[in-house]
Amino acid sequence: LEHQLRQSERLDSLGQLAGGIAHDFNNILAVISGYADMLVDELGDEHPSRPDATGIKQAAARGAALTRQLLLFSRSEPSKPELLDLNAVASDMLRLLGRTLGEDIELGTVLVPSLPPVVIDRSKLEQVVMNAVLNARAAMPSGGRLTISTGLEHGGDGEDQVCLAVTDTGCGMTPDVLARAFEPFFTTKGRGSGTGLGLATAYGVVTDAGGTISLESEPGRGTTLRVRLPAGAEGSPGVSPPAPAAAPSAG
Ligand code: ADP
Repeated sequence: LEHQLRQSERLDSLGQLAGGIAHDFNNILAVISGYADMLVDELGDEHPSRPDATGIKQAAARGAALTRQLLLFSRSEPSKPELLDLNAVASDMLRLLGRTLGEDIELGTVLVPSLPPVVIDRSKLEQVVMNAVLNARAAMPSGGRLTISTGLEHGGDGEDQVCLAVTDTGCGMTPDVLARAFEPFFTTKGRGSGTGLGLATAYGVVTDAGGTISLESEPGRGTTLRVRLPAGAEGSPGVSPPAPAAAPSAG
């Protein structure tokens, strides 16, 4: 518990710092991006400097993606909790990701039907799952199986937990990586490809919603990231009415 407290205090101060920087930086990036767009247009297809201008555009876009991640990590984005069916979230993610993961990844779901709903911000939860799937993909450079599963756990105190897990058959984590995986800015990926913010952000998103998040991993065998959320009830306080099924999620 003491460790968890220390962890969340650290997350809070790091988050405030990161959020402040990300916000200002985002505005600067928008200006860079705007000028680069104009430059690319003005130079035309044949100009020898056009690849340079395109390079500026692409770097600004990467910077914008990073600041988006920093803003999410900093928890400065307000949460819009709603009642969600984790089976629907899992199926939506599968449909979305099916095409982008590549043919060497065997994708599947194991869903327990008729789960009670949970209460959490949809687009934040989707980012948590998305990050888990991208981590799983990165752990299986020569292919493997990625499974999104759901389940229901009956707590001794009468509180049921609904779970969503992302399992891969990838490289797994050594005990020292596993111990540090939720630390902000901890990454084993090279510069430019990892921010080390994915799991730290996931930790914040899930604990803010009253849930828990955990990792099981074995080197050479694979990894499971499991999110557990309290089973919510219709009419829970502070919940916006469920969005229409076909509506695209915000963010
Ligand atoms: P990033 O992906 O930017 O490195 P994360 O916080 O998402 O940041 O992950 C931190 C580290 O945890 C990764 O660099 C990697 O070493 C390890 N990790 C996360 N997910 C997995 C996974 N599914 N398999 C193996 N290692 C993982």
